[in-house]
Amino acid sequence: MNVKTLEMGYIGTNCYVVSDDSGICAVIDCDGNPQPLYEYIAQNQLKPTYILLTHGHFDHIGAVEAVKEKYGCTVYAAQKEAALLSDPFLNASAMASTPLRIAPDVFVKDGDVITVGSISFSVLETPGHTQGSICFLADKNIFSGDTLFLGSCGRTDLPTGDYQTILASLQKLKNLAGDYVVYPGHGPATTLEYERKINPFM
Ligand SMILES: [Zn+2]
Repeated sequence: MNVKTLEMGYIGTNCYVVSDDSGICAVIDCDGNPQPLYEYIAQNQLKPTYILLTHGHFDHIGAVEAVKEKYGCTVYAAQKEAALLSDPFLNASAMASTPLRIAPDVFVKDGDVITVGSISFSVLETPGHTQGSICFLADKNIFSGDTLFLGSCGRTDLPTGDYQTILASLQKLKNLAGDYVVYPGHGPATTLEYERKINPFM
């Protein structure tokens, strides 16, 4: 399993391209001008099949329509994020960029498994940053969206956010067995074991 991080969009959102040895890949969140993503995919002859969304904020969905159209990807997101994805006021795109409305092809919930080539992503519901925030677990990797950052966590003052709820979600992550590499929605990667030790929100 290969993970490529591309920082995209005007507030530097991490777009992850997760591919297996055959080149089948998933794109996790994508904002801004997708050109660097297209170049990476072309250079490595990858075959994007799915776009997986950790949550519906404008800075994670800005390039979804373009990428979906270019490759014919299927878009997966949490059932509990449906309202936010379709409402530019809830997903904050009305205030920050052009109004965005995303209609995912497939809705997922806690415990669902998404198969991308030889990679299995398990869905873990981690509400708090938004009500439908989810993490994707694949092998010993967590794609944590804006739930868990290096030494920090996502804000909870935007629509559907709730501070006590994100704290409970961070405990859920803390209680996972063993160590994981954590790939957050913003900033550098970290590990779960390191966050258990130093993250004040955990
Ligand atoms: Zn967010």
